[in-house]
Amino acid sequence: MDTVTDPTRHRILTGDRPTGRLHLGHYFGTLQNRVRLQGIGVELYVVIADYQVLTDRDVADDLTGHVEELVLDYLAAGVDPARATIFTHSAVPALNQLLLPFLSLVSVAELGRNPTVKDEIAHSRQSAVSGLMFTYPVHQAADILFCKANLVPVGQDQLPHLELTRTIARRFNDRYGAGVFPEPEALLSKAPLLLGTDGTKMSKSRGNAITLAAGADETARLIKRAKTDTDRHISYDPAGRPEVSSLLLLAALCLDRTPSQVADGIGAAGSAALKKVVTEAVNEYLAPIRARRAEYARDRAHLRTVLREGNERARAVADTTLAEVRAAMNSHY
Ligand code: ATP
Ligand code: MG
Repeated sequence: MDTVTDPTRHRILTGDRPTGRLHLGHYFGTLQNRVRLQGIGVELYVVIADYQVLTDRDVADDLTGHVEELVLDYLAAGVDPARATIFTHSAVPALNQLLLPFLSLVSVAELGRNPTVKDEIAHSRQSAVSGLMFTYPVHQAADILFCKANLVPVGQDQLPHLELTRTIARRFNDRYGAGVFPEPEALLSKAPLLLGTDGTKMSKSRGNAITLAAGADETARLIKRAKTDTDRHISYDPAGRPEVSSLLLLAALCLDRTPSQVADGIGAAGSAALKKVVTEAVNEYLAPIRARRAEYARDRAHLRTVLREGNERARAVADTTLAEVRAAMNSHY
């Protein structure tokens, strides 16, 4: 799946917007990889992208609550704050300052071509596109490069942003001095684009997600109303039957089998049988994560300590990188 043979040669940065609780798309798209690589000794940075909440809405509702929920999801999934750095954008000024030189390295035309940004503009709650929406992939380059991460476990929607980050790193190095920034690689999982209950990308903002925190009954209800098709014979065909295939993939990931094996087990029993298999698999898989989440939720002060310490560590790293950038740009006065 990836080529990490020497964990000390890698550093991971990845993150999520505090727009709601994490869901199965996050878990199987990126979170599981973060925890797995942390487990073999790769250094892990996780950004809670609070400034980027404002890309597609006017106001960030209940930001503190959403940030705490994300920390809870991370801890429950196995991110270990003793080894990993969990931080928020807004608490790390030197990271944000990298945005200015980075913006000078990309053209408006390049920004306008980004397919993920185009899709998000189409789903945005705003009538006009803000400058932040247009430029947030550059901000994301600052997230990744401030800590010189070279591996980024992400879902498929992030690939254009990763390409832009690589371009920015390359152009910065060409213009100001070789070797300041690495050119990071994306790490995709077996589920780079898990679909939600409506058959489009599972997303916090689209009301189609099964969250890690959902109860077993709620999970059953959500899966019951998931979009499928009328063919009673269940088969794995991602191009021809995307909704059925995404459900098969979800069960397969939980059961550690292949989607085709899961399909063979259901045969001609139809969508209802498929949904039953998926519900049981998801609930069983998530049970220990949900139990840990409930345990961590009892101590809110601990969540704030995790963030405070993560923010401190991230600030120190960002200050060092910014000093290096200023020296490279001859703006070290
Ligand atoms: P929002 O709707 O608020 O943008 P989101 O559900 O798209 O929320 P993000 O915080 O934008 O979540 O994404 C965080 C990370 O999770 C990214 O790496 C993204 O690629 C990954 N991810 C999100 N949704 C999915 C999905 N359905 N399948 C696979 N990966 C996903
Ligand atoms: Mg998103």
